Amino acid sequence: MNKRDYYEVLGVARDASQDDIKKAYRKLARKYHPDANKDDPKAADKFKEIAEAAAVLGDPERRAQYDRFGHAGPEGQGFNFEDIFRGGFGGFGGFGDIFEMFFGGGQSRYGPQRGQDLRYDLRLTFREAVFGIEREIKIPRTETCERCDGTGAAPGTHPETCPLCRGRGQVSITQQTPFGRFVQTRPCERCRGAGRIVATPCPECRGAGQVRKMRSLKVKVPAGVDDDFRLRLVGEGEAGVRGGPPGDLYVYISVEPDGFFEREGHQIHCELPISFVQAALGDEVEVPTLDGPTTIRIPEGTQTGTTFRLRNRGVPHLNGGGRGDQMVRVRVITPTKLNEKQKDILREFGREAGNRLHAEEKGFFKKLKDAFMG
Ligand SMILES: [Zn+2]
Ligand SMILES: [Zn+2]
Repeated sequence: MNKRDYYEVLGVARDASQDDIKKAYRKLARKYHPDANKDDPKAADKFKEIAEAAAVLGDPERRAQYDRFGHAGPEGQGFNFEDIFRGGFGGFGGFGDIFEMFFGGGQSRYGPQRGQDLRYDLRLTFREAVFGIEREIKIPRTETCERCDGTGAAPGTHPETCPLCRGRGQVSITQQTPFGRFVQTRPCERCRGAGRIVATPCPECRGAGQVRKMRSLKVKVPAGVDDDFRLRLVGEGEAGVRGGPPGDLYVYISVEPDGFFEREGHQIHCELPISFVQAALGDEVEVPTLDGPTTIRIPEGTQTGTTFRLRNRGVPHLNGGGRGDQMVRVRVITPTKLNEKQKDILREFGREAGNRLHAEEKGFFKKLKDAFMG
C-alpha cells in the first residue's frame, strides 16, 4: 500500500507551523474519530492515518527526519503507526486517549508524566482537631530544577537526541514469523527511555532535571476533623517529569486523646465527679468545656450516671453547620478517709434515715432479694 504524504493527509503546507499542524489534526480527528463514525468502517483507518501523520509532523524531531528521508525514515526504518504508538501508549484504551496524549492531558512513559502523590502524617491535639489549626509542615519532595528548568542540561547547553533510539525513548525489534510480523518494544538502554541525552549535566541537579528539597508548607486544617481525615493539597506532591503536572499532597490526620474529654463523632463526653452531699442536696457545679468552664445545676437527689446535655459545646461540623453537644455524666463519689466527727455525723444521719433506703428504692431491693433467693 502506498502511503500518502503526511502533509497531504493533514492538508497543511510543508512549512506549516506546529500550531497549524495541531489545529489541522484536531479538526480531522474530530471528523474521523471512530466513535463518531460507527457506521463507516473506513473511518478507523482514516483516523489512524491522520494520527500517524500528526504523530510524526507534530514532533519536531520526527518531522525533520520525515522531511529528509520521507516515509522510509533514516536507515530505512520507516514510520509506522504501530511502532510510534506501541509501548508508551500501551495502557490506553483507544483513539480518544491518543488524541489526548498528543496534545496535552495524557501521560506515557516517554512523554510528560505526572509527579507522585505524597503522604504526610499530621498528629493533632484534641483541641486542634476540634477547632482547626494552621500548621507549618516541612516535607521533603522533588521539585523541578530551577537552574536548568528541568532539562537536566547545564545552562547554555541543550539535551541532545539519543542516537540509539533517535529520540523515541524505546527500541523495537521486529521479527518475521509464519504468523506475521511481531514487534517487540522496550525502553532504550542508552537514554533510559528519556529519548534525550544530556552531554553536559546541570551542576545543580547533576542532569536529573529535578532536585530534592525540604519544602515548608502552611496547612490549614478545618475545625471538626477526626482520626483518618485526609486533606488533599493539589499540586503539592512530587514534581512532574518531562513537563508533566505535579502530584498532590495528602495530609493524613490523627488525633491525640484527651485526658478529660472523649469524642464520639460531633459529641463530646465527659465524666463529672460530685460528692454524695452535692448529689443529695443539689448544687451548682463548674464543668470544663472546650470553650472554658461553665456552670450546671445539679438537682437534689441526683444519681450516678445521670447525664446532662450542654448544647453546642461539642465538635463543629466540618461544613460549618453548627456544633454537636457535650454530654456530662455525673459520678457520685463515696467519701473515704472520714475523720471521727464526720463519721459521727453520718451515723446520726443513718439513724435518722433508718439506715435503710427510701421507699422508692424498695422496689429495686425486692428484685435483688428475689434474685438471691433464686
Ligand atoms: Zn538542573
Ligand atoms: Zn535512547
